[in-house]
Amino acid sequence: MTPELEAVAAALGARAQLAHPLGALSTYRVGGPAAVFVEAGDEEDLIAVREALSGRDVALLVLGKGSNLLVADAGFEGVVVHLSGGFAWFDHLGEVDGTERVRAGAALELPVLARRCVALGLRGMEWAVGVPGSVGGAVRMNAGGHGSDTAASLVTYRWLDLASGREGIDGVEHLGYGYRRSSVAQSEVVSWAEFALGRGDEAAGREELRSIVRWRREHQPGGSNAGSVFTNPPGDSAGRLIDEAGLRGYRLGTAQVSEKHANFIQADDGGSADDVDRLMDQVRSVVAERTGVELVAEVRRIGFTRTGEPR
Ligand SMILES: Cc1cc2nc3c(=O)[nH]c(=O)nc-3n(C[C@H](O)[C@H](O)[C@H](O)COP(=O)(O)OP(=O)(O)OC[C@H]3O[C@@H](n4cnc5c(N)ncnc54)[C@H](O)[C@@H]3O)c2cc1C
Repeated sequence: MTPELEAVAAALGARAQLAHPLGALSTYRVGGPAAVFVEAGDEEDLIAVREALSGRDVALLVLGKGSNLLVADAGFEGVVVHLSGGFAWFDHLGEVDGTERVRAGAALELPVLARRCVALGLRGMEWAVGVPGSVGGAVRMNAGGHGSDTAASLVTYRWLDLASGREGIDGVEHLGYGYRRSSVAQSEVVSWAEFALGRGDEAAGREELRSIVRWRREHQPGGSNAGSVFTNPPGDSAGRLIDEAGLRGYRLGTAQVSEKHANFIQADDGGSADDVDRLMDQVRSVVAERTGVELVAEVRRIGFTRTGEPR
């Protein structure tokens, strides 16, 4: 560990866990440990991290459900802040400005959010039932699917910058949203988000949840992965391009392009994150060579130092 990280760990005291394994906290289930790991259950924990980091230049990762990232086999030489239980709350605020408002803590799972909303007769969040991430991860990634996304219903969110100490509650317009991207910085923690939804028929909402779950089962693989590896290029689909490049089912070591959906890369049980990383680069370069399209990674690669394709 670097002296800076040692100082951060010392300042965190009992809140810091050293060399904490991350694989089990991500849907890829591979990869090494975090040098310093903090389980943040409430705002006080976040403030303690902010104080420990003050004036120190260390790498930082805010971890949600780990469903959109790949941690290197060597691990992450920095501080990981994992939002847990205390941030998994849900509130129905009632009608505001003609819309139904719900507020959810950043650690709430998206499928739980979708189901809670439908149970209240609220429509607009059904897409989230098929996305195994957290509310905070969705705000950061502008997660979406089935014709909608986070940007479509997010109104405000609370954030805290663990590096600068700045904090606030801002409107969605501050997020600079685009397709699967936002302006949330690496050092910012989103602690809750508020969504504006419509009133609707609960039975119709339930049917939509069922049909989304069914569609996911039919079209997406199970196992260890982080969903779509690459974003869809404008007007096209990354899966179609990977398929056209002849890479469906292609294997490199313990990683394989899914037979079921070519934009998913699976890791074997006990496999290697570095194999997944190398396969991502290989897919990207073969697709560029055979189709002329430069794919852009949607999965965030954490702790990799190898220089290869642009990240
Ligand atoms: C089977 C499968 C299907 C998927 N399908 C979809 C889909 O249809 N649509 C889609 O958009 N995505 C999909 N994903 C990807 C993923 O679920 C989403 O990107 C999700 O929003 C990530 O949330 P997370 O909590 O897992 O974030 P993580 O993977 O933990 O982190 C992702 C990024 O968000 C940041 N982050 C996480 N929490 C916070 C927070 N509280 N504050 C600030 N930053 C934070 C992290 O630092 C990181 O940069 C899928 C993944 C899987 C495994």
